[in-house]
Amino acid sequence: MTTALTAMKLTRREFLGSAAAACLASPAWAQSEKPGLRAPRITYYNNFASHLLCAFNPNMYYPGLPYRWSDEDWRRLVDMIANFGFNVFEFWLEPRLFCREAIDSPVGREFARQLNGVIEHAHARELQVEMIVALATVGEKWRTLCPNLADEWREIRFLWDAWIRRFPGLDIAGVFPGDPGACSRNGCTAETYIDKSIEIAALLDQLRPGIGIEFNTWGPPFFGWGNIRMAPGSQGEFIPEDQGTAWTFSKARADRSMKHLLQRLPDFPTNTLVSINLGFNGDGNPQGEQDARPWANAIAKTRRILTWDFSLTEGENAVYPHYRFARLFARRQEERAAAPYSGGICFTMTPMLNQLSLFEAAQSFRDRDGDPHRLAGDFFVKVFGEAGRAFVDEYRLFEVIPDWGSYDVVKLPRMDYHQRVSAFADRLEDAKATVKSGAVLFPDPETYRQELVFFARLFADLTAPHPDYDALKQVYWNRVYRIYDRLPDHVDPRPRGNTERFVRHFMDWT
Ligand SMILES: [Zn+2]
Repeated sequence: MTTALTAMKLTRREFLGSAAAACLASPAWAQSEKPGLRAPRITYYNNFASHLLCAFNPNMYYPGLPYRWSDEDWRRLVDMIANFGFNVFEFWLEPRLFCREAIDSPVGREFARQLNGVIEHAHARELQVEMIVALATVGEKWRTLCPNLADEWREIRFLWDAWIRRFPGLDIAGVFPGDPGACSRNGCTAETYIDKSIEIAALLDQLRPGIGIEFNTWGPPFFGWGNIRMAPGSQGEFIPEDQGTAWTFSKARADRSMKHLLQRLPDFPTNTLVSINLGFNGDGNPQGEQDARPWANAIAKTRRILTWDFSLTEGENAVYPHYRFARLFARRQEERAAAPYSGGICFTMTPMLNQLSLFEAAQSFRDRDGDPHRLAGDFFVKVFGEAGRAFVDEYRLFEVIPDWGSYDVVKLPRMDYHQRVSAFADRLEDAKATVKSGAVLFPDPETYRQELVFFARLFADLTAPHPDYDALKQVYWNRVYRIYDRLPDHVDPRPRGNTERFVRHFMDWT
């Protein structure tokens, strides 16, 4: 243990620039959130659910198909995020597994075996591990069971009980309302979600005394409970076109449910934290009636609070290299000004491509006043040598498509852009000679360089004078999403839609 920890500190110092390493080593860093509070919880949230499969995310559900990670791959991933500064590894037990059929299926057993290995290695690197589960959404078709029906509530309790036992070393269990899923049947409301989450938390605390609980308010708030549209006769089926109704905001509903949460906070187990964003909307913006800051402060009087801001790092199914760091750091500063937050999540569905985003996101909790461009330069120096510092301006060219959480994109005349991104591709080719093979990166630095070359060439080709868009769309699809060629259409078919949208952006660019 001691040896491993010493090695970790050395490699962390080795990977980061000396200034960043000094920051990490400093006692002041550990208290940077607020004097007297514990170190912020900095959570790497890897969403590898089956609608977010891609070449840069682990395939945990289809043993015969591409993108599987070996146990060694997982250990290298954990090493990387430990070096970046994360202290929690979080995964979602998606509904495909959160169901009776999956528990003892070959896929379910292998999932548990591999994640238990991740938990063991994470502990060796001083990370905790959290599993999040939607309270009641189950099965391959993302059906939501109703806690107000006795037999369905019994099933929900059974599933929580069974799955928590599959992970003896799990540190934290997170309960979230839905997205996907939620219930409006049989009188279910946001208050039902709160009350039933307390019962589940008590069950978990009984099974695993002292286990950490994270109670999530995600949504407008409490996504979907009592406000998602469910047709008469619904059995809780996932209806894609109705999911948006779960975001319907009502001040009366928000006030009523948040007051209920405040009343019931003492009933959660002692070791419970609450996630609440600055605002009751998908972007976490504290605007008008959707301002969640007063509620965050009220909760923080008795419980530690975290943000669960999903909008900051890379969106969903926007698979290319990202550079969204101005908003990321601005949000960290807003959080500091708003309430005594003690950490939050950094979401990724492309850990094998957006390592820079992960590094920046972890650092954003360490030093909210940090300069993201300087940090990007430090990152590239560690991967490509000194020449890497000059890559920052060109790398930003990838962030060119307006998207969820990305509103300040690069805007250039098409041919100027084409020339610059082509030149960047050339420089990335030349960087082969200076790649630092010892940098703690997953995949290895040379593979990372080749991925960047692929995307730089693709973006250059897409902005050439007369691109064959259909052919380039296929190139992108084959590189990113080919696994879906061998799967039936998912209940959430966004990979195809987002590929269309991705190419359309370049077609419309004059
Ligand atoms: Zn219900």
